[in-house]
Amino acid sequence: MELEAHLLGTSSARPANGREVSGSIVIVGKYQIAIDAGEGFQTRLKKQAKVLKNAKWESRISHTRLDVIALTHGHLDHCWGVLPMLLSMGLDCRNSPLSVLAPLHHDAYHALAKDGMDAKMPDSVPAVDLINQMRFWWELLFDKISSEEMFPIFWYTVSWIDGEEKWLQLDPQNSTVSQLSAPPKPIGPHSLTPHQTIHSVPSCGWRITSADRPGKFNAQRSAELSLSDNQISKLANGEDITIIATSDASSSAPSANSAANEILLASDFRGPSTSGVSILITGDTGAEAPELLALAKAAPLNLLIHESTYSDSHQSNAINYLHSTSRDAAKVATQIAAENLVLTHYSSRFVETEIPLTEAREAHPRVHAGEDGDIFQIERDGSLKIFRISDGSPFQILEPF
Ligand SMILES: [Zn+2]
Repeated sequence: MELEAHLLGTSSARPANGREVSGSIVIVGKYQIAIDAGEGFQTRLKKQAKVLKNAKWESRISHTRLDVIALTHGHLDHCWGVLPMLLSMGLDCRNSPLSVLAPLHHDAYHALAKDGMDAKMPDSVPAVDLINQMRFWWELLFDKISSEEMFPIFWYTVSWIDGEEKWLQLDPQNSTVSQLSAPPKPIGPHSLTPHQTIHSVPSCGWRITSADRPGKFNAQRSAELSLSDNQISKLANGEDITIIATSDASSSAPSANSAANEILLASDFRGPSTSGVSILITGDTGAEAPELLALAKAAPLNLLIHESTYSDSHQSNAINYLHSTSRDAAKVATQIAAENLVLTHYSSRFVETEIPLTEAREAHPRVHAGEDGDIFQIERDGSLKIFRISDGSPFQILEPF
């Protein structure tokens, strides 16, 4: 398994019909990322962790193992669960660092960049903007947990100014704001990138792509050349080497008569590299957000988890409230050539998901209607397995499409 996602809430706005509000976990390599954390997220995370433990699942999840919380926007159904989870992490004496990534209103960016951490927010910055929520979290968090006991949290914010990504790093304990010249890289060799979406507040989806893998090392060729372990190790690590070629090909020892330098290129000892696999979780968005489409088209996407608040019959609501219908989600999936689409963020109107699924499948061939607890595994070759929790255990859905 190259990348795994756990969909831990598929309801929009409020818990309804047995579904909880937004929040997902993505596992890539040794890293665990939460994308959104609405009300009760840590409880859902614990419940899923127990399911995995009982099933002797290969990967384990927990709030103490989270490396990143990446938020899509400030609406409470997407972030009301962050503060209690941070408090639990502190109370559980976590030591490892956590990164929190949040989109901010562009005027919040300007105010922070100009006047620092205590900047007064202009009226254009809505109350639910994540800068206001983070300030509230910091106050309560640092009141409850002393700074000596506090685990390190790196706070990063992204805003879009004239279409360009602008990153800040905020340090509430030292009251400093730093402008970053490059996006943070909180998941090692893998990438986590925001894709701006359209909503009533600044919002983005998050794409997670596993690292490219180098091609297979040609051990046979290195054996034929009788290279030393040291030379093999250098080539394997991408370093070109120079050898002394001799008349006797089986020996690399210098020869007085026929010695000549030969350069061996590390690239000649590797097969073609394979690119990573990719998942994009949208958060809330109106139909066909241009930035989302442009960025998402730039690289192949194995799995798109797209909001699907309404069906065709309430398309005017989708337009008015800047949400998507399931057909809109499928159109986006088709436009960006996403291999698979999972619907989520259903209006409380939907007890069953038959209507959204039927409408979406008219616009994309591989659509799955997500439910709370669903697990998605993407293999290195891009193939997808879907598991559903039933009676407390995950079962693979053998024919999801
Ligand atoms: Zn929402």
